[in-house]
Order: sequence, then structure tokens, then C-alpha cells
Amino acid sequence: MQEKGNISIHTENIFPIIKKFLYSDHEIFLRELVSNAVDATQKIKRLSSLGQYQGELGDLKVEVSFDEEKKTLTISDKGLGMTGEEIKKYINQIAFSGATEFVEKFKDAKDANELIGKFGLGFYSAFMVADQVEIQTLSFQEGAEPARWICDGSTEFEITDGTRTERGTDIILHINKESEEFLSKHRLQEILDKYCRFLPVPIKFGTKTESEPDGEDEEGKPKYTSVEVDNIINNPNPIWTKAPADLTDQDYLDFYKELYPFSEDPLFWIHLNVDYPFNLTGVLYFPKVKNDFDFQKNKIKLFSRQVFITDEVKDIVPEFLMLLHGVIDSPDIPLNVSRSFLQADSNVKKINSYITKKVADKLAELFKKDRKSFEEKWGDIGVFVKYGMISEEKFYDKAKDFALLSNTKKEHYTLEEYKSKVSALQTDKDGNLVYLYTIDAAKQDAFIQSANKKDYDVLEMNSPIDNHFINQLEQKLEKTSLKRVDSDVVDKLIKKDDTPPHVLSEEQTTKVKDIFEKAINKANMKVEIESLNPDELPVSVTQDEFMRRMKDMAQMGGGM
Ligand code: ADP
Ligand code: MG
Repeated sequence: MQEKGNISIHTENIFPIIKKFLYSDHEIFLRELVSNAVDATQKIKRLSSLGQYQGELGDLKVEVSFDEEKKTLTISDKGLGMTGEEIKKYINQIAFSGATEFVEKFKDAKDANELIGKFGLGFYSAFMVADQVEIQTLSFQEGAEPARWICDGSTEFEITDGTRTERGTDIILHINKESEEFLSKHRLQEILDKYCRFLPVPIKFGTKTESEPDGEDEEGKPKYTSVEVDNIINNPNPIWTKAPADLTDQDYLDFYKELYPFSEDPLFWIHLNVDYPFNLTGVLYFPKVKNDFDFQKNKIKLFSRQVFITDEVKDIVPEFLMLLHGVIDSPDIPLNVSRSFLQADSNVKKINSYITKKVADKLAELFKKDRKSFEEKWGDIGVFVKYGMISEEKFYDKAKDFALLSNTKKEHYTLEEYKSKVSALQTDKDGNLVYLYTIDAAKQDAFIQSANKKDYDVLEMNSPIDNHFINQLEQKLEKTSLKRVDSDVVDKLIKKDDTPPHVLSEEQTTKVKDIFEKAINKANMKVEIESLNPDELPVSVTQDEFMRRMKDMAQMGGGM
């Protein structure tokens, strides 16, 4: 067999355009070729299980290898292979027309950068790094002859008899001058780790030495010898592909370590599993956050049938959950469209609200099942919950039942509980509820004590997000205002049961106050004679509220 031909596509010179498009992201060619090899392997397995292929399946691993001298990189599989006719159909037509379509659709796109890496160009992407691509293949079909195809990325190709003796396909890339980085073990390992780590078929890349027990020495101690074993770069059965019932807590923790080797254990996790109306699996972890500024977004990895796609999951995961870690796998997320498309996609919208609901349900369950441990974790999860309550109406409605308020005595209350706790005492003259809070309990201790003395409870609201959370509560809670404890506020609190009067007369009080004011001699400091009871604060000196606010404003940064 010998055939030269022309691939019939209408854009003659698509190659330079594609090269320009994917300039910064050439490495994805390997993801594409390895996924094709995996697809071909899965297909032969399916044919075999359907009885449509009677032969031996054999060892089905995919192998990636390179030859520095010949400057070739080869991806081999023992999949279903192709006949010469199929090459013409699938490679010349499908692969090339996919590439043409891409160019036609996106050659004028402004957001080309966003498309990069999200649009699998499939087989054709090999030409980004190779002068020449060669296929050696043998179809599984009875009586099939091995075939060879060779092409330099232009529309001309050549098909001849092939040399492959075993079912399957070799894709051989003759790496071009600018792409020699892809002939380095280190670089290839890096790309395989990134994209192929959880592909469903074992992928071999070279060998590695391992020590193996080998009997005992004269003293009866175990002996070891080093053996060369296949270097399998992937874990073909990651936990998100398994049923939650078959997994232990340790499995989830181990997987977390596999994803983020240097992180502390997560607080808890949620296993996602939907098959209707869209397909989605995954595991989301709540990380331990050391401080409010320690957030790292984009730690969730997005997969499509176990092929890594991106760690930019904006739009798919609700904004307030971007701080979670873990994986999401969905073949139903369109990967070949631009961002604006993604936002409008109905599956993406459904996925987004599904995740929100799942997270809310899980939190509600944790709260119900073990309130004590929920309270202990509140320091870490409170920020997520509050962020969610502020940004998503639907989440607020669910979270209002388990969101906690903490007071300066380190007690935790749900919104409902807090309301009943304080409603008898903390009202203003119009009968509205007054919640007091502090953002810095140590600095405002004097006011907190005075408020407590008047039987008012004080909430601690000391994370940066609490500013916004307070606003949200004021909007949501009926007839309730939240006030920061300071001298103005404390002065005006209505005292329910009168505590013993000052031991000093009014005249004496004025005198003592006068002495303090002269001694301090600062116009913006306010002196208050509280009480001369020995176990209480006798005198408080505070900065004028207006001055403090001015200072705060000057220091204020933007955002949360
Ligand atoms: P896609 O994978 O999205 O179909 P590609 O451009 O990656 O598009 O591949 C085009 C077609 O070429 C595949 O659908 C498949 O039929 C065929 N093909 C590519 N690689 C292989 C392979 N290793 N073994 C068998 N068939 C292959
Ligand atoms: Mg493909």
C-alpha cells in the first residue's frame, strides 16, 4: 500500500494560526495524545466486554518514551488501533476538521488567552511541537494490515504499509528545533504529573529502581535487591471515581495528602456524586485556614473524565467556595468555549447551585450530628459560611440555621438562640433589639465590662469579613440593630435592674473627674468615673469616638 494525498480542508494554512494561538501552552499536546491513547484502550476493553473482540487484551498500559538522539517522542497504546481507511477517516477528516473549526471559530476571538488549554485541539496539537508526525498502527479487526501515516502538518499526507505487529497504535513525533524541551525526562514527567495523574489506564514513563525483599542473609536478616520496575506515573482509580460507602476517612485524608503534600489535614470533606441532570463527581475539602489572609484561591482542580483540565474553576464553583480544595470531574462542563459562554451555560449554572446546596447540607448535617465539634471548627469554617451568607441568598437561607454567633464569653449561639437569649433585656426605647459587638475585645474591655454590668451580652466580631456580615445581619434580622460597644453606646444602654448607686456624691464625682482630666490634659480623651467599688473599674479614660473613627478611616484598606 502506498498512497499520497491531500487532506481536504478549506483553510489552507491553519497550522501557523494554531501555533500562534496556543503559543504559551504547547505542553497540552501530550495531554491530548495520551488521552487519545487512553480512549483507544478503553474502547478495546469495551469491545472485549461486549464480546465484539475475542482476542487477548494483554497488558493494556500506555507508554510514553523518547529518544534524545533521534529527537522523537512516542506515545504507544494497545488500544483498538486503526486501519488505513480509518486513519483517513479519523485523522485526515476528524482531527483536521476539528482544528479547522477551531481556527474559524476563534481566529478573531479577543479572549484567546482564556481558550488556551481549555480547547483540546486533539491529535492536531502534535504539530505544535513536531515537524513531522508518524502513526504506526494495527487494528484489532480480523485480517487488518498494519498501516503507517506520515504528515508534516500541511495538508499533504502519505499512507504506506506499517510495521506494527501488535494491536494498537504508536504516535511518533519528530520534535522540532524550538520544542526540544519535550525531549527532557524532567519536563515530560512534569507535564504527565500535571495532566495525566489520574487517567484511568496505567501510564508508563521509563523505569525506576525499587528494592525488593530477597530472602535472608546468613544472620537471618532480611535481604533486599534492587529491581527495575515500570515507572507508572498515574493513579488510575482516584477516590472520586469510587462510591463513598467503599471509602474510609483515612482514604480521604490520604488523597488530600496526594493532592497537597505540604498541607495540614483538612477539617472535613464532601463527596459529590450526581448523574442527573448533569454528570459530576468530586471531593471538596474544607482546608484549615491559619489566618484570614492565608486564603489560596484556585486550589480546586477540574477534570473531565479524569483528564486534568484546569485549576481555574471560577463560574463552576460559587465564588465563596473558591477557597475550598479538592477535585471536580465533569464531562458536562463545556471546555471548548470562552468564559462568557461558560457563565451563560445552563449546566454550569446547575452545577454551581448544586455545589452550593451540597455544601450547605453537609454543614447542616455536621451541626446537627455533633454540635460540639461544629463549634470547635467554627473558627475555621465561620469565614466561609459568613462569606456565603453575604454573597448568596440561597445559601443564607440554609445557613441561618447553623451559622453561629460567638460572644466574649466564648459561648456560641445560632441566630435564633441568640435572639431568645437577649430579647428580654437588650431593647432600646422603641422596643427594637440591640446586639452589641466588639472587634477587639482586649482594647474594648472596659466597655464590655460596663455593658455586661448592665446585663448586655457582647458578640465578638473580629474577622475582616465580620464588617460585611454585620451589615448583612442588620438587613436580614427584623427590628434588630448591631452596635459596636464604645463609650457613646454603653452610656445610652437602658439598665434593666438598677445596680447600687455610686459611692461618691455627684459633687465628689465631678471633682475626681476634674483631677483626672487635668492630669491627662488632652482634649480628645474622655474621662468617666464608673464606680469606686473595689472589684470594678473605677475610672475609664477613652479616646473620643469621633477621633477614633477618623483614625480608623485613615487606616482603612479596600475590600475584605
Ligand atoms: P477526539 O479525540 O476528540 O475524537 P482527536 O483529534 O484527538 O479528536 O482524534 C481524532 C480521532 O483519531 C479520534 O476520535 C480517534 O478515532 C482517532 N485516534 C486518535 N488517536 C488514536 C489512537 N491512539 N488509537 C486509535 N484511534 C485514535
Ligand atoms: Mg482526542
